[in-house]
Amino acid sequence: MHLVPTQEEVVALLEQTGALRRGHFEYPSGLHASEHLQVPLAMRYYQHAKTLSVGLSRLVRANPEIRAMIPALSIVAPATGGLPVAYGVCEALRAHQVYWAEPENNRSGAMRFRQFLEQVRGEKVLLVDDLLRTGAKLSELKRLVEANGAEVVGLAVVVWQPAPDGPDFGSLPFYYLAKLDGIFYQDAPSCELCKKGVPAVKVRV
Ligand SMILES: [Zn+2]
Repeated sequence: MHLVPTQEEVVALLEQTGALRRGHFEYPSGLHASEHLQVPLAMRYYQHAKTLSVGLSRLVRANPEIRAMIPALSIVAPATGGLPVAYGVCEALRAHQVYWAEPENNRSGAMRFRQFLEQVRGEKVLLVDDLLRTGAKLSELKRLVEANGAEVVGLAVVVWQPAPDGPDFGSLPFYYLAKLDGIFYQDAPSCELCKKGVPAVKVRV
């Protein structure tokens, strides 16, 4: 395994652990897809968790501006899938701290931090998650971080699985170990797999 695992090594690791499945999947949003990814299934194993999070940390560290911030850098993740990645990246970087946001209870998509967590104005934040697909969670997390006066300096995910109409994070540095070009369809009527009569598996996330 390379110090930064290659795309092929990451995909092989995801397949071996059952984290990456191929077939016909229906998401709660109505999207249909030919691949389904659950990075936490790969993060079950500490060796793999270390390979992925250390590899990701090396990509981040290669950015000289972020490298200069590391002693004061906060690693912030959406719960729960981002947590093992965030801890692995923080440890590998020797960054300042990790904390995370959780969904509010009202199903609005809004997130919040734990009570009494205080962000410092101007605090430098690296957003970390296992996966960027629709980008809804990281967009909400970025909004939350910035609403509290902190500054997002970059994004890092294990896998980038671009979905239609993904968000635009502008010029923010964005790091990923593997990019998966699964085929996404906006809905059942436009889905080629549905047209072929392939049974769809409903997935929860
Ligand atoms: Zn379909």
